[in-house]
Amino acid sequence: MQFHLNGYRPGDPAIAEPLGEPDAARPDDGLPAEVDVLIVGSGPTGLTLAAQLAAFPDITTRIVDQRPGRLLVGQADGIACRTMEMFQAFGFCERVLKEAYWVNETAFWKPRDGRPDEIARSGRIQDTEDGLSEFPHVILNQARVHDFYLDAMRNAPARLEPSYGRRFLDLDLAAAEPPDGHPVTVRLERVDDAHQGEVETVRARYVVGCDGARSGVRRALGRALHGDSANQAWGVMDVLAVTDFPDIRLKAAIHSAHEGSLLVIPREGGYLVRLYIELDKLRPDERVADRAITVDRLVAAAQRILHPYTLEVKEVAWWSVYEIGQRLCDRFDDVPAEEAGRRTPRVFIAGDACHTHSPKAGQGMNVSMQDGFNLGWKLASVIRGRSTAAILHTYSSERQGVARELIDFDRAFAKMFSAAPKQPGAEGEGIDPEEFQRYFVKQGRFTAGTETCYAPSLISAEPRHQHLAAGLTIGKRFHSAPVIRLADAKPVQLGHAVTADGRWRLFVFADDQDPTVPSSRLHVLCGFLAASPDSPIRRATPDGADPDAIIDVRAILQQGHRAVAIGALPPLLRPRKGRYGLVDYEKVFCPDLKAGDVFDLRGIARQEGCVVVVRPDQYVAHVLPLDATSDLAAFFDAFMI
Ligand code: FAD
Repeated sequence: MQFHLNGYRPGDPAIAEPLGEPDAARPDDGLPAEVDVLIVGSGPTGLTLAAQLAAFPDITTRIVDQRPGRLLVGQADGIACRTMEMFQAFGFCERVLKEAYWVNETAFWKPRDGRPDEIARSGRIQDTEDGLSEFPHVILNQARVHDFYLDAMRNAPARLEPSYGRRFLDLDLAAAEPPDGHPVTVRLERVDDAHQGEVETVRARYVVGCDGARSGVRRALGRALHGDSANQAWGVMDVLAVTDFPDIRLKAAIHSAHEGSLLVIPREGGYLVRLYIELDKLRPDERVADRAITVDRLVAAAQRILHPYTLEVKEVAWWSVYEIGQRLCDRFDDVPAEEAGRRTPRVFIAGDACHTHSPKAGQGMNVSMQDGFNLGWKLASVIRGRSTAAILHTYSSERQGVARELIDFDRAFAKMFSAAPKQPGAEGEGIDPEEFQRYFVKQGRFTAGTETCYAPSLISAEPRHQHLAAGLTIGKRFHSAPVIRLADAKPVQLGHAVTADGRWRLFVFADDQDPTVPSSRLHVLCGFLAASPDSPIRRATPDGADPDAIIDVRAILQQGHRAVAIGALPPLLRPRKGRYGLVDYEKVFCPDLKAGDVFDLRGIARQEGCVVVVRPDQYVAHVLPLDATSDLAAFFDAFMI
């Protein structure tokens, strides 16, 4: 973490300096008549988007919710490795690591051979494959995730707070762009006691519906969720209980012979445990509330499934019975496919508003937050005049593809989870528990969130030089690796250079030449980036801004960190910044040989080296040879202003 750039500031460095006049949104104030971005819904999706936009004090953002205040308990709890990587970018992964339960192993249970009314363990596996991410898969109450986002927003340069007690009523999208560039008019009804029934009207440049599965914004766009009409009812309860079930502190998937399936998710704090109990399928026209299911029924079902083990529930901290269908919206913005060439989107939907799936694979909250991260930097860069609005089309194309894959996976996974157990090789319906376990292992990367791969687009290149960095796949997230920072010999994770600040990164992996020699390819590339009129850095960086304000260059050398004098490296790697022109010493890294050489870990071609272009949301956008300067310039020229 870097601070004191513009002068010494005492106090908590996590609280960013407000840049200019902070546009603080106080919850009880009326909303401004005009905003740049209006976010409807402060669930995990809306909060991720708001936290990203709060990094930019020159953008007026408001986030509204019909709830009276912040979420206190309940809902989702699984946090995938990829999500932890994103939390690192937002600056609160350590808080999650400290508080959360870590899913290191998973157990599988099936009916006992010869005594099928009892359950027996059929397997126990490592939950996440080695080296998949520097972060574990963890479990933490969704409400705490909200709290961390709220802190991040509060401490960000824009000092953003949600405006609660506002219900979205409707929106109107002007057919022609108005001169002031605010084409979306939204009406909100106040539902807080002090202002009951008052209607506020807000004009926005962009509106994002993060308002959950029954999204009003989606309805206003005339879009619908399509998919399975047969909904599945789920019971979930967070309990403090005494049990002799031996795997109560492990994630455990239990298939009983006749009493159904149960998922045990140990929770933060050492005592709390979440039990997911699959209930009945609902008729298409039926709501789960119609069945008047009680928590006692959930407890009794869990006790039957766990037999011969006992479960004595002392306290139910939270419980819910809810229905879920695997459903997907065909587009996540207001622009029909046939109009995509003529206009750019103004209204978006994200999270549960455009895809819903079962909680079994723990994906709902994770995929939803990634929607928010994907959209946030794009909106910011368009509003701030850095990128053309055409990049906004990639939000729907990228995230709809991810959601479609998730729904296909969830359908298969849910079917296996619900099927009655059967003996290996037996004919007929049912699932062999060992097959379920194999499927779970095979899909591990998918559930960790690290398999997402965006197709080539304006901001994701065709993989023509992928062989130069075989382990950093274009379209996938930048897979971090341990390195040593040259200037201060600190072991760090290379990927942690990518924080949620809207900047692009160029990771320049040096070739096998001496990097201190002026004729080396590293020097020549840095010279081009620093001085050429065609350099994307020169072209994109506003006058007076720090040289790394838009595109941040980091170099990774092959030499040990004691073998290179930092002063002999190109000046671009020691940029002068801030009002004093202080030197940023944190741009150059060397292999951490104790932890593994980054060049080997990520398959970098040692002889040639390469440039890896990374998007502000941590995805690899391009891999290029060190001397492909015109290709690098052309990539950025296609969308950067
Ligand atoms: P949400 O979290 O649903 O947030 C939507 C927000 O929009 C809410 O704060 C809501 O108040 C607000 N809103 C809605 N309509 C309006 C309106 N008209 N005007 C203003 N604000 C509005 N997932 C799991 O994996 N495990 C679980 O156990 C689990 N349990 C759940 C229990 C419940 C009761 C619910 C609702 C969801 C549960 N989920 C669970 C799903 C998981 O919480 C979601 O996948 C995740 O929260 C998606 O985030 P989101 O921000 O898109 O939507």
